Amino acid sequence: MPQAACPQRPLPLPDPLSEPFWAAARRHELHMQKCDACGWMAYPPEVACRNCGGAGLGFTPLSGRATLHSWTVLHDPPSPGFRDRLPVILAVVELEEQARLLMSGNLVDIAADALRIGLPLEARFEDVTKDCTLVQFGPAR
Ligand SMILES: [Zn+2]
Repeated sequence: MPQAACPQRPLPLPDPLSEPFWAAARRHELHMQKCDACGWMAYPPEVACRNCGGAGLGFTPLSGRATLHSWTVLHDPPSPGFRDRLPVILAVVELEEQARLLMSGNLVDIAADALRIGLPLEARFEDVTKDCTLVQFGPAR
């Protein structure tokens, strides 16, 4: 009996607010919102600056460098599309451009037992489809 095709992983659905982030990811760049008035950077995208209330939030490129803030390791797939990717490491990283600018993502190219708080990381980009590139993080090279 033929096996059913492995279900796809759930993919993000960009909305008008987040589309510039995903468009940059498709170019293998990491962009974040930055307030025109005070320079505060936001993730996930916001309609107004949490620091000053300003509505001028454009997107700006970041280095992609980060440090490991926290993580958890999944040994059971969160959905069937992750079955061939176990263990999945879910992380919160702190981007270098701003204290406590935190972003979540998967960690790749590293074993769970090598992880430690503050580990230097860099953004990695996985082209899942022609319209979807995921931002992940791996050890800094
Ligand atoms: Zn602001």
